Amino acid sequence: MPVFTDSPEEAAFRKDVRAFIENECPEPLKGLNRRTGGGFGAFGAPEFAEAMKTWRQRLAKRGWIAPAWPKEYGGAGMSHVQQFIFNMELAEARVPPGSGGIAIGMAGPTIIVHGTDEQQADNLPGILSGEVQWCQLWSEPGAGSDLASLQTRAVRDGDDFVINGQKIWTSGAQTAHRGIMLARTNPDAPKHRGITFFILDMKTPGITVSPLTQMTGQQGFNQVFFDNVRVPAKNVVGEVDRGWYVNTTTLDFERSSIGQNVGTKHTVRDLVAWSNEALKDGTSMIERNPLVRLELADRMVEAQVALMLSFRVADMQNRGMIPNHEASMGKMFSTELSQRVARTEMKLIGLYGTLMGGPYSPRNGAISRGYLGAVSATIAGGTSEIQRNILAQRGLGLPRD
Ligand SMILES: Cc1cc2nc3c(=O)[nH]c(=O)nc-3n(C[C@H](O)[C@H](O)[C@H](O)COP(=O)(O)OP(=O)(O)OC[C@H]3O[C@@H](n4cnc5c(N)ncnc54)[C@H](O)[C@@H]3O)c2cc1C
Repeated sequence: MPVFTDSPEEAAFRKDVRAFIENECPEPLKGLNRRTGGGFGAFGAPEFAEAMKTWRQRLAKRGWIAPAWPKEYGGAGMSHVQQFIFNMELAEARVPPGSGGIAIGMAGPTIIVHGTDEQQADNLPGILSGEVQWCQLWSEPGAGSDLASLQTRAVRDGDDFVINGQKIWTSGAQTAHRGIMLARTNPDAPKHRGITFFILDMKTPGITVSPLTQMTGQQGFNQVFFDNVRVPAKNVVGEVDRGWYVNTTTLDFERSSIGQNVGTKHTVRDLVAWSNEALKDGTSMIERNPLVRLELADRMVEAQVALMLSFRVADMQNRGMIPNHEASMGKMFSTELSQRVARTEMKLIGLYGTLMGGPYSPRNGAISRGYLGAVSATIAGGTSEIQRNILAQRGLGLPRD
């Protein structure tokens, strides 16, 4: 196993981050991942709202709420290696980042690069303070992997655009104050060229948010309906009909998925420790299920492989290269691994795994929720099939058809 060492500057930065987390992160958030079993929506649970607010404020005070944003826009302006260390240390301490990925990772960067002065003044402070929650209105019932097929229409009428149509799978729309949205403004143009990027106030009349209940019982995402919704033309980001290209903007974010892969390593370690604990009859889970022993060893090896894939992407970025299929490989491997880990956990607990809570449910349903929640990992953010297409074409150089 290769050994990675920090340079003296990196080691000092890591120490600083570690001390900050130890001293400043509110207690209820420490180890949050372990207690809830992670899963979609765990960090947004109402019981953590107050602690999350405090954590955001402390990160903001330190300038670390938006690690990759340029300093002149209120970010930390961290280098790739600093972002990598920062994300790794948060994950090692099992604490959540300060703000949601859509606000910090998508809405903010797009507005920084393409927004007008007025749009920046109106939107960036609320993102940095974490007080304004954002959602991303891209997918539609007929447009997901092939996003450019989207049909929601925006038609110019005086100083406004009037929007009609439907979005689906919109994470957090039920609590979001604002949204970034793609809508079709020119149905006659080639499909990538007639799309416009809008900022939406989610309280605008005509928007109906209808939560969808997942099989975990949580309500993480929604259907959103638009019935003659009037959006001021000044809310268009970039040029009309050029929204597809506005959407491809990214700041220099670290792309290694290190946080997720450290989380998986912890999950597997916890599982090994837990399966060795003595039960009432003196045996342990692993003694009762010797066949799962080999599976656990496989998961541990795979968790290390996932970490190595993260280091590979981080190393490329540090050397000024742009990871492409390498990031797809990492995303695909770690999300499929999270499903294999969940299946191994389920095998260990057997039929008790059908319980979502109550005295007989191991770890108060965390394993069941993790098992059900893991299904979405290989869909969200680009399905495994789409990642395999990228690997085939850009990594292996295979023909498109
Ligand atoms: C947890 C979660 C959160 C999400 N949050 C948001 C959100 O906040 N905002 C938002 O806009 N969307 C969100 N989505 C939606 C997500 O972006 C889409 O589900 C995803 O892009 C896939 O699109 P789809 O569901 O329409 O499936 P489709 O694109 O219809 O795919 C169906 C199946 O066909 C396969 N497939 C499609 N095209 C190809 C191809 N070319 N080659 C091989 N196989 C193919 C897919 O892999 C999949 O198995 C979320 C999804 C999840 C699971």
